[in-house]
Amino acid sequence: MKKKYVFVTGGVTSSLGKGIISASLGMLLKSRGYKITIQKLDPYFNIDPGTLNPYEHGECFVTNDGAETDLDLGHYERFLDQTTTKDNNITSGLIYKTVIDNERKGYYLGKTVQVIPHITNEIKKRILGKSNPYDIVITEIGGTVGDIEILPYIESVRQLKWELGENNGLVIHLTLLPYISVTGEIKTKPTQHSVRNLMENGIQADILVCRTEKHISKNIRNKLALFCNVKPEHVIESIDTRIIYDIPCLLHRQNFDKVVLNHFNLSTIVSPNLKKWKNFIRKYKNPKYEIKIALVGKYVSLHDSYKSIIEALIHAGTKNEIHVRIKWIHSGAINDKNMEEYFNDISGILIAPGFGNRGIEGKILSAKYAREKNIPFLGICLGMQIAVIEFAKNVLKIQEAESNETNPYASYPVISLMKEQKNIIQKGGTMRLGNCKCSLMEGSKIFSIYGEKKEIFERHRHRYEFNNIYLEDFSNAGMKPVGINPETGLVEAMELDNHVFFLGVQFHPEYKSTVITPHPLFTYFVQISKNYKSFDYQKQNTPYV
Ligand code: GLN
Repeated sequence: MKKKYVFVTGGVTSSLGKGIISASLGMLLKSRGYKITIQKLDPYFNIDPGTLNPYEHGECFVTNDGAETDLDLGHYERFLDQTTTKDNNITSGLIYKTVIDNERKGYYLGKTVQVIPHITNEIKKRILGKSNPYDIVITEIGGTVGDIEILPYIESVRQLKWELGENNGLVIHLTLLPYISVTGEIKTKPTQHSVRNLMENGIQADILVCRTEKHISKNIRNKLALFCNVKPEHVIESIDTRIIYDIPCLLHRQNFDKVVLNHFNLSTIVSPNLKKWKNFIRKYKNPKYEIKIALVGKYVSLHDSYKSIIEALIHAGTKNEIHVRIKWIHSGAINDKNMEEYFNDISGILIAPGFGNRGIEGKILSAKYAREKNIPFLGICLGMQIAVIEFAKNVLKIQEAESNETNPYASYPVISLMKEQKNIIQKGGTMRLGNCKCSLMEGSKIFSIYGEKKEIFERHRHRYEFNNIYLEDFSNAGMKPVGINPETGLVEAMELDNHVFFLGVQFHPEYKSTVITPHPLFTYFVQISKNYKSFDYQKQNTPYV
């Protein structure tokens, strides 16, 4: 079978959810038996989003092979229940760097290096990929049509559509249909302009997916079809939903996946197998209990900063018929006088990953509170490091215990840098990244949570580590290293004895949770939190996260 290519562009405004539309289409096609991959092209000049503040671009998602990528790759993995790699996220920075490096190597000797053809050729090469085993490659183009930055990408799509031939390439344009409440009208003009803008760049959209808060009428569909040169059945509504996981089914009901397959002359005989997906949605919408998890972090005003954690809690909650409500707590706001106020109604405390000094004190107080009051606790990455510092200070009585991240000259660095990391000058892409092996200690809670597996693999994204000089002191005092990297001896997980559940993990379990396969650590954390404190869902007046 000749490989098929879907391109997803965005119009009118950003943040319409191209990632979710791409992931939904991928999921629907996969559920019909096609081999799918989704890639994201980002038109910024960072080589990857690893150096970006989460407030700029949301969470940085890490793949198994250690790439720091756009958060949309998290959606792809969660919807498709399959992993992505560094090849699934390409930035302008990467493209331009490759071309400039090639120029220095003399690959274009004699030629003037230009956006067209050199940059566009490099983009096309990346879109087409190496010989990969997929039937359909979905490529999401970041940004909005009309942005200066995305012009080389749009030109590459134009060329590819032409070169691939009519039935091998397809463009889906995601736009917004604003609703004017005063007149009660849905407006199509911004979409018309956006489609025209694409056409000015030589691209005819094949399918329009229209974000809207109201259902669109047949009239609107016909009008859009007429003015935008698409068939009426190629105008797909994407109405605002309560949860993103509803979207694939809503699109499927309008034959979205079928229209795509028809365009490619691919078979639609096998209908999508959505049993597990629908089962998930049914369970999500009918929880029995509600719990409140305190999520302590410093980027809490932008929830996208913790996207994978939020989704992992949703997956785990749904599995347990629990609606998980997140109580967002800014670590900077916590002090020893207001702890009760923040934590009196919560079922569990999660300290989020993070970087830098700000808000450290509030996090240490939160870990202390969870430890002393026997409240279920999960510390992720920086969250584990905080739990270690807190334990050192208040149990081991090392008052000056610190991380070298906060103080490079700390006298008692319970969290410190590995030798390799000490010589690193360049910041981007140099942390401990991606899948690492971890041996679990038999008899520990984490060992049973992972189904008594002796070895697990989890993804990493951090520079600092538990300082093994202190290992014995911690162990003797009841904080046990229950996960160790067998190759390096680095501590991967710390668990407290005599506590309902107090676990810190140096890795990021949230990256591996999917709708179909919730992560065992989150599943357990949610269960144990429910046992600690839960509410009858029916009596709560707060239907969604
Ligand atoms: N800042 C810490 C480190 O670099 C933790 C990183 C994280 O939480 N992802 O080790």
